[in-house]
Amino acid sequence: MRWQPTLDRTMIVAPHPDDDVIAAGGLIQRIVAGGGEVSVVYVTDGENNPWPQRYMKRKWMLGADDRAEWGAMRRREALASLERLRVPSEATRFLAFPDQKITALARRGDMRLRDELRQAIESFRPTLIVSPSGRDVHSDHRTIAWFTHAAAGAIDVTTYVVHSAPRADRLIGTVILSEREQRRKCEAIECHASQLLLSRARFMAHAGPTESFCAPEFDLVRVDSTVRQWSLALAHALGVVTGAVPAPIGSRVQPTADVQDRAGDVTGLL
Ligand SMILES: [Zn+2]
Repeated sequence: MRWQPTLDRTMIVAPHPDDDVIAAGGLIQRIVAGGGEVSVVYVTDGENNPWPQRYMKRKWMLGADDRAEWGAMRRREALASLERLRVPSEATRFLAFPDQKITALARRGDMRLRDELRQAIESFRPTLIVSPSGRDVHSDHRTIAWFTHAAAGAIDVTTYVVHSAPRADRLIGTVILSEREQRRKCEAIECHASQLLLSRARFMAHAGPTESFCAPEFDLVRVDSTVRQWSLALAHALGVVTGAVPAPIGSRVQPTADVQDRAGDVTGLL
C-alpha cells in the first residue's frame, strides 16, 4: 500500500542542530510551499563536538564554557538554516539534553526526554512525526528514535537515517527535490558553518536530489547495551574518517531505484 502521510502539521525530531535540514530539507520546503506547518524539536545543542571546536578555537582542552558557547552558536546556525527554508524561529524547540549522552540516560531509566517530547507533541499536535532511526550508526540517533516512538502514541511516524543508508525493506517514501529545492537545501546546509569546517564533502553529500523516509520502527527501537553502543561508535568513527557510508544496521541490502520508485514521491500529497 502506498504511504500517504498527512503532512499539514509535521514535527521533525532532530538529535542535533543540522539533522533536520540534512534529512528533510526538501520535505520541509514541500510542506511550507503547500501551506502546512513544520515544527522542529532539537534534542541536544550539538555542543559536544570536539574536533571542529578544537580546530576553530586552536585549543586542545575544552571546558564546559567552550561547550556552552559552541551549543549557542549551533542554535544560531539552526535558526538561520530554517530561515532559508521559511520556517520561523517560533516553530522550534530546543530541549538541551546532553549531546552524545542520550543512551546513557536511557540505560539509567531516565525518561525525561520521552516526557518532554510528549509535551512538544501535545503542544503542536502533529499529523506526522519525522523521527531519527533506530538503525542509524550514531547512538544519540538510535536512542532518540526509541524515546520518540515511546512518545508518539497513535500519531503517524516516519524515520530517517543520517549516518548510514536507509534499509531498502523499510523504505516507504521519497522526496525527489527539484533543482530549486536542492539549491535552497544546499543554502540551508551551508548555514551550519561549524559542521562544514572539517567535513564539508560529507555534509554536502546530503544535499542530493533525493530524501528517503522509512517505516516507523516500533518493532526495531531499543536501548543499546554498552558493547553495542561502542561497536557501532567505532563504525561511525571509521565512516567519518574514511568518508565511507556505513552499511545499514541489520541488512546488507541497499535501496535500489526500483524500490525508491515503489516508495513513491510525496509530491502532491499535501
Ligand atoms: Zn545528528
